[in-house]
Formats: sequence, structure tokens, C-alpha cells
Amino acid sequence: AKDAVSDRITMTRYDLTKDTRVDLDAALKRPSQKSSEVIMNIIKPIIDDVRQNGDKALLSYTHKFEKATSLTSPVLKAPFPKELMQLSPETIKAIDISYENIRKFHAAQKEDKPLQVETMPGVVCSRFSRPIEAVGLYVPGGTAVLPSTALMLGVPAMVAGCKKIVLASPPRSDGTCTPEIVYVAHKVGAESIVLAGGAQAVAAMAYGTESVTKVDKILGPGNQFVTAAKMHVSNDTNAGVGIDMPAGPSEVLVVADRDANPAFVASDLLSQAEHGVDSQVVLIAIDLSEKELQAIEDELHRQAMELPRVDIVRGAISHSVTVVVKTVDEALDISNDYAPEHLILQIKDAEKAVEKVMNAGSVFIGEWTPESVGDYSAGVNHSLPTYGYAKQYSGVNLGSFVKHITSSNLTAEGLRNVGEAVMQLAKVEELEAHRRAVSIRMDYMNRS
Ligand code: NAD
Repeated sequence: AKDAVSDRITMTRYDLTKDTRVDLDAALKRPSQKSSEVIMNIIKPIIDDVRQNGDKALLSYTHKFEKATSLTSPVLKAPFPKELMQLSPETIKAIDISYENIRKFHAAQKEDKPLQVETMPGVVCSRFSRPIEAVGLYVPGGTAVLPSTALMLGVPAMVAGCKKIVLASPPRSDGTCTPEIVYVAHKVGAESIVLAGGAQAVAAMAYGTESVTKVDKILGPGNQFVTAAKMHVSNDTNAGVGIDMPAGPSEVLVVADRDANPAFVASDLLSQAEHGVDSQVVLIAIDLSEKELQAIEDELHRQAMELPRVDIVRGAISHSVTVVVKTVDEALDISNDYAPEHLILQIKDAEKAVEKVMNAGSVFIGEWTPESVGDYSAGVNHSLPTYGYAKQYSGVNLGSFVKHITSSNLTAEGLRNVGEAVMQLAKVEELEAHRRAVSIRMDYMNRS
């Protein structure tokens, strides 16, 4: 008979208050990723094929992978027919509320006017932003319905003023796009929806086909084929396409103290654990007694058993950990080192603790802020750096859809003020034409 205890869904516990020899790096190691070489060898021929044979190749992969054999055109152009976005009033309302909050928060990130600094009298330096003209937004999943991803990418693109917004998403086996995605595409003013997924969709947007618009930047999450394809095209100078950031399995780190409600803590851990078996969730418990730790663990098991995705949860929890520490500072040191995609602070004075957060994709403050609100409707973006990349990357934001251009504007006086320094450095670097571009003007000024 199966041992009931071994079936218990529970995270491995390390108590740093009792055992200081714990190898935290090993304990908090994220589940390893599949070899990228194997994946690269699968996606390269697909990318080459789409690049050479355009729509015909793109369609053939959609027939193969999505089984959408009735599909005859790989692109749905705006204006999208109303009958393709038939939704319940509840869903429309939910999308509309989320859209508006995401719009407000990203619109506030706009820079009102160019930054301008006079570095020396007559030497004016400016910086201004311009939208990226054409963006390709990948919305994963033929089976899953992900209107939230379409919102998180489409709304900032619209707010930034990108002229051409192209959405790509694998169609359902009947060849149609999920109506939620069509509705979001319509709301953000997308010019088209590419009915394809995987490496083929990425290639079509990177190089363009007869019917797919070539874009300047591709953003959005996806499986390993999508991620590898994005990396591949962004390394190809012929494609001239940028990408957002490396994406990996979702993760959350919850910091909880004695004030935290065990049921809330468990629910937050589980809301990430249900993403996929390779997801990881971490609990940093500050000064909890055995009884208090047990209460969280009991809740975790109880709530997990009620979830439709309990099998996925079981997989994720198997490589998830609880770390017990003494103080908030210790907890945040560990968190900063782990650099979680999502950080939840269920502690007293949570707002104050944010000052100590150095590395995280997005922070959820206090007991009334479950991560799900940020995933969907609060207004913050949910496309965030995973796998420790929060140490050097930001999540998707308005800046992901613009470029910054600088300008300098000098008067004759300005050139006189800065000219000597320029000429001297040009001399040091032995770039005589550089030096002369200044000296010719200086001579001219001195003559007249
Ligand atoms: P997907 O759209 O990422 O990938 C589907 C495509 O994968 C198919 O169109 C096909 O082209 C390609 N593919 C599948 N098997 C292949 C094979 N053997 N060879 C070549 N290509 C193949 O959808 P998915 O697979 O359901 O993955 C969804 C991903 O999105 C998950 O990795 C998940 O973690 C991620 N995700 C992210 C978010 C988010 O951050 N918003 C939300 C949910 C899911």
C-alpha cells in the first residue's frame, strides 16, 4: 500500500536558525533547462524554410503542429470581424477593466518632454524617445487561452505609439484564433494576427513573408522552441530584429512572518506552482515556530489537493523549498540573491521592507495583494524576468517599446568651450579627421 505520508505535497524545509551549514545555492537551484543545442537543431531548419518559402512553409507547419489543416491563409488582417470576438459580457468586462488599468499604468510611464542638459555654456545635450515602428507580440498556446499575455504586450505597444502591432498565436485545430485574443487585438489596434506558433511564427515576423509584416522587435513568452527561435533570429544581422528577454519557467518567492495568514501564504505559493512542473516556489519564513510552519504546510497540502492541476503542482513543489530565517534582513538578502520573478511580502511593515528589495521582477506588498492581481488586472506588467535574470533585466514596460535618441546642439561659443578637449582626445586616438572636423571650424571662427 502507498505510504500516505510520502504522498503529502510538501516543500523541503531548511532551517537556518538551527543549521547554519545549509548550502543555500544548492537548495535554491532552479530546475535545469533542456539542452539548447537539441532545440536549436530542431528550430533552425524551420526558420530557414519560412525565410525561403514564406507563407507556404508557414502554413504547412501550422497544419502539422496545430492540426489546423483547413487553414488557407496564415494571417487575419484588421478590421477583425465581430463574429470572431463573441464573448460573454463577464469576460468582456474583465478584459475591459484590466485593459484600462494596464493602459493607465503604462501611460504614466511616458516621458512628457525631452530631457535636456547644458553641459557647458553653448553645449546642449538632449534625449528623446520614439516608438519602435513595428512590433511582433507572441501569445503562446493553442490549447491555453491567454488574453492576459495579449493585454500585457499589446497595451504598452499601443500606449508607446508603435505604428504596426502584429500579434502571433497558434490557432485552434479548426483554424480559428481564440476570441479573447481577437478582442484584445482589436482593442489595442493590432494590424494583424499571425495564425501560427513556435519557431515558424517567430521566423515569419522576423523576416516577413508575402502576408506577414516584418517587425523590428519580437516580444512575448513561449515554450522552448519559441524562446530558441527568438534568440536565433535576434543573432542574425540579416533579420535586424530585437527581442525582449530570456524567458524561463515562472517562479515566486514569498516572505512571510508570524503576522501572515497561513492560508494566504499557501494560496500564493500554489498559484505559481500550478504553472508547470518546472516552476519553482520558495517560502522564506521569518522566525516561525514549528506549529506555525506546520500550519502553512497543512494549508499547502489541503489546498493543493483541491486543485484541478494538482499533478502539475506536485511536480513543481517537489523542487520547491522553505527556508527558515531569523530576521527580515536575512530574508531579503536571500531573496536578492535569488532574484525572483515575483516577490510577495506578507510581513509586518511590508511597504517599508521594499526599500531593501534589490533584485525582483515585480513585488506584491502586504496580505491583500495576491500575485494574481498583477498577473491580470492591477495594471503592472506580468512579462517578467525569470531564472535570476531580475538581477540585470527589467520586465516588459513602456520602455520595451521605445528607443531613446540623443542629440547635441552647439553654438560657436559651445564649440570653442569644448573643442580643445575633443581635439586632444582625437590626437591621442590618432584620428586626424576627427580632430580636423573641429579645427577647421575653429580656424573659420578665428578668421571671421
Ligand atoms: P507555445 O505557443 O509556446 O508553443 C506552441 C508551438 O510550439 C507550436 O506552434 C509548435 O510550433 C511548437 N512546437 C511544439 N512541439 C514542437 C516540436 N516537437 N518541434 C518543433 N516545434 C514544436 O505554446 P505551449 O507549448 O503551450 O507553451 C506555452 C509556454 O508559454 C509555456 O512554456 C509556458 O511556460 C509559457 N507561458 C507563459 C505565460 C506568460 O508569461 N504570460 C503564461 C502561460 C504560459
